[in-house]
Amino acid sequence: MTNGALKRVGIMGGTFDPIHYGHLVAAEAARVAFQLEPVLFVPNRLPPHKKDYPVTEAKHRYLMTVLATITNPHFEVSRVELDREGYSYTIDTLRELRASFDPTVDLYFISGADAILDLLSWKDVDELLSLCYFIAATRPGYKLNVELGHLTQRYASKVFTVEVPALAISSTDIRRRVKEGKPIKYLLPESVENYIYKHNLYRP
Ligand code: NAP
Repeated sequence: MTNGALKRVGIMGGTFDPIHYGHLVAAEAARVAFQLEPVLFVPNRLPPHKKDYPVTEAKHRYLMTVLATITNPHFEVSRVELDREGYSYTIDTLRELRASFDPTVDLYFISGADAILDLLSWKDVDELLSLCYFIAATRPGYKLNVELGHLTQRYASKVFTVEVPALAISSTDIRRRVKEGKPIKYLLPESVENYIYKHNLYRP
């Protein structure tokens, strides 16, 4: 960004198992609304809240994220969580990214509203709220005041929302559809669809 304007970087955190158009539209909506440049997609290695659920090998989730974002010049993919051993706590990522940017750069962590809903239970949440802003991407019909109200009121200057109609698409539904042999065309980029079939992901 030029003319001395403050720079804002987006950090799009997720498991991306698999990445789909909902994620891409959410990142693009946040980028435009908050003037973020670039938006860094950060696939996690071991999600701390999914200790009891198997997630697809990190290598596949990373490569699908690269394939999905390649055509957008404002999107980049970061390996910061994939290259760090152990559980992927967002605080560790934010500390690392904060140190790598100029102090004048503001960081905006973007994720699904349902993930950010539990923010207060995340590791070192007070420090986290001092390191970045949060953008919660909501699905249409999301009862913002009921669900996220406690966060958006208490941390009004730190937690924002964007409504993303395409978030009616979900990774869980895509995995189920592949398992049941149903089509997933138009829910995610064709390159990701081909990758899923080539590597036999989500099959029983
Ligand atoms: P999740 O619990 O699997 O997802 C919750 C909801 O949010 C789902 O509906 C999901 O849809 C949606 N979602 C997830 N990421 C999204 C994104 N980037 N954009 C739009 N919607 C999104 O969430 P998760 O992916 O595992 O975690 C989200 C982020 O929060 C990750 O970066 C994770 O590391 C971080 N997190 C950190 C902590 C911690 O530090 N203690 C705890 C929890 C989460 P889909 O299933 O379609 O993606």
